[in-house]
Amino acid sequence: MASVSVITLREGADADKVRRTLVGLGLWVSPLQGQGNAQPAQLLIHEYSAAPDPAKLLAIEGIAAIAASASAHPRLDAQPPVVVVAGHSIGQGLPPTWMAGPCSVESEAQIEGLAERLARMGVHFLRGGAYKPRTSPYAFPGHGKKALLWMRQAADRHGLRVVTEAMDGDEVGAVAETADLVQVGSRNMHNYSLLRAVGRTGRPVLLKRGMAATIDEWLQAAEHCLVSGAQAVLLCERGIRSFDSSTRNVLDLGAVALLAHVHRLPVVVDPSHGAGRRDLVVPLARAALAVGAAGVLVETHDDPGRALSDGPQALPLEDLRTLLSWVPGG
Ligand code: PEP
Ligand code: MN
Repeated sequence: MASVSVITLREGADADKVRRTLVGLGLWVSPLQGQGNAQPAQLLIHEYSAAPDPAKLLAIEGIAAIAASASAHPRLDAQPPVVVVAGHSIGQGLPPTWMAGPCSVESEAQIEGLAERLARMGVHFLRGGAYKPRTSPYAFPGHGKKALLWMRQAADRHGLRVVTEAMDGDEVGAVAETADLVQVGSRNMHNYSLLRAVGRTGRPVLLKRGMAATIDEWLQAAEHCLVSGAQAVLLCERGIRSFDSSTRNVLDLGAVALLAHVHRLPVVVDPSHGAGRRDLVVPLARAALAVGAAGVLVETHDDPGRALSDGPQALPLEDLRTLLSWVPGG
């Protein structure tokens, strides 16, 4: 999977007929133009195709040989479709995994109160930023180490797991000691030294998609974590930049469907940063599960109007409860 295959045609083969047969099998194919040849001698099956069965292809009239390139992310390809984090299984075909909590951990009392209520609703992971990547240097940067401790204690009291972000190498150790799942944020998806430092902790990683990253760049970033020792990587789609400012980002559910159904990877979707507005969080969360997401990460707040960061996208707790009681296909 996730490798490019080159098909060599027999002499005199009808390249277009072969191409059509391959397209009929659901593969994404382009001719490889030989110099000066009217008919291509080779066809290319793209890496975003479903994995072709070589025996089936060789039986097609006109195909002489198939060569597959090495995958650019062999460890990710080899990762099992179900990832287990602190005893909780995440993957397609399983009930959805719910991750929820405030954008930033604002106080010990706040995270304790939220943890208690989220656990009662059936949330599996408590999220919350201790170290916050903020666009403005004057915005609330998070409570750091103190917040890690508050979150861990609250999660333990209520049987939740912790997912939180490591923003730079200096804090990776403390975050990995505290968190069950270490988040690498969108702004850091291309920070290869951080990806490697997080990988070296051996912890499972929640890797958010860079806001202008291609799917291939995102998968290769995951490979950086795995090659350095991460136990597993969960990809998290959180919206990409576009020309339209009606929503904060554009949640790329096509990417989720591709990764879930073609690459067979567990994907978590964050509709909060994807939309940037709370009225779209519930419908987008449902859509994410419908296209194959294994889990959903939602920002919530007990009093969104007073949130220290990302208030406009924080889902009130009662709306989160409604979302969690909704069963896809039910
Ligand atoms: C977050 O989840 O707290 C966050 C900052 O998200 P992102 O990296 O997707 O912007
Ligand atoms: Mn946020």
